[in-house]
Amino acid sequence: MARLHHSGTSAPVAAGGVPGARASLASVRAAALRCRACPLWASATQTVFGEGPEHARDMLIGEQPGDSEDLQGHPFVGPAGQLLDRALAEAGIDRSTLYLTNTVKHFKYRLRGKRRLHARASAAEQAACRVWLDAELARVRPQRIVCLGSMAAQALFGRSFRLLLERGRWRELPGGARALATVHPSYLLRLRDPDERAEAYALFVAELSRLAEPA
Ligand code: SF4
Repeated sequence: MARLHHSGTSAPVAAGGVPGARASLASVRAAALRCRACPLWASATQTVFGEGPEHARDMLIGEQPGDSEDLQGHPFVGPAGQLLDRALAEAGIDRSTLYLTNTVKHFKYRLRGKRRLHARASAAEQAACRVWLDAELARVRPQRIVCLGSMAAQALFGRSFRLLLERGRWRELPGGARALATVHPSYLLRLRDPDERAEAYALFVAELSRLAEPA
């Protein structure tokens, strides 16, 4: 069932409706709140756009908003976000200094009874949403980016990127920023074996701590 919260009387934004290169991040965010360039807006509560300092040195890119993010309208506020907060604190990184966003800006789910279970955005939905991530990258212009999960990593490094083989290494992007990939915190939440989970969490913290090094 669709629960719509879209922004009042403003016109919807279709593909190609991203404000021009001179538009501010605030203008881009306002346009993204009305986006209808793929079907995901219709069953979600609201667009979950990126948040953080407009010219943050470091950016984290996740995959898609989850149930809590959809309801609250902010990125990384659900269980995975809480685990990320703990890991950032252990890595010595102040979350408030980061710009946090997702590759896809609307929650996608399938219903099981009344529960909304995460569903992965299709390649077409990821491609449709790419304009918003590009608009954020062009305005924030981070020096360093950490991709959380394979969807985010493949958005920056290409579809052939293999996360578990290539994680944790800085790569230079066109334009000079550096990016590395690690797992998404929701992956850690899905690990059932306590030892495996502790080991995976420690590696996650170690990879995030690369942001504690001088840029
Ligand atoms: S998921 Fe992205 S492209 Fe699709 S409607 Fe939402 S903001 Fe627009």
